[in-house]
Amino acid sequence: MAKKNKIYTAIDNTWGTPYFLKPIKLGFDMSIVSATKYYSGHSDVMGGSLAISKRVFKLVEATNKVSGLRLGPDDAYLILRGIRTLDVRLEKHQENALKVSKFLSKQKKIIKVFYPYKKGSQNYKLWKKYYSGASGLLGFKIKSKNKNSVLKFVNSLKLFGYGFSWGGFESLALYQTHQALGKRQFTHINKDEHIIRMHIGLEDPKDIIDDIKQALKFIK
Ligand SMILES: *Cc1c(COP(=O)(O)O)cnc(C)c1O
Repeated sequence: MAKKNKIYTAIDNTWGTPYFLKPIKLGFDMSIVSATKYYSGHSDVMGGSLAISKRVFKLVEATNKVSGLRLGPDDAYLILRGIRTLDVRLEKHQENALKVSKFLSKQKKIIKVFYPYKKGSQNYKLWKKYYSGASGLLGFKIKSKNKNSVLKFVNSLKLFGYGFSWGGFESLALYQTHQALGKRQFTHINKDEHIIRMHIGLEDPKDIIDDIKQALKFIK
């Protein structure tokens, strides 16, 4: 539809990375990836990449020349070093995240898991059609009238760090506030429902699951 109407299209491919999704081949004009995440893989550098179709090459090149925004050589070095192991890391993130998502979906207090790699999950069919794999970022919904007990759950996780910038080797967990989700809610959440975002890292999946298990006990 966009092509018919001469509209340029862009996609944020940070979650899948080009290892699991090829947006230009699918017909997108621009594919943006935060190199801060899986490219670097160690949460120690900030950067981004833009892949483009031939259709927009001249426009993007002209903007790139006048903008003057350039990546520092040290940052470029760290990102290039990380990219060398992108494939092996992503395979492991995927393997671990699938195990964790299967565990999460069996828990009574968790009413929904957002991870497309899991059969029967929301968007499984769309994911299967376009992606060749899934990364380590997932979400889930907890039902509890006691918000503090859900916060206690997140804060009792010992293996998980606290952070927004996922994509590194370590696992991260965040309580997504209702305000942060705002009008961009991808799912309806009631007052007694809570969304947790987890980035599943490269640790031993048994350790990750054991950690979640001990913390889940705090949810009332
Ligand atoms: C983190 C993130 C960004 C922004 O990346 P930075 O490199 O931290 O600026 C963009 N898109 C998605 C999907 C992200 O997760």
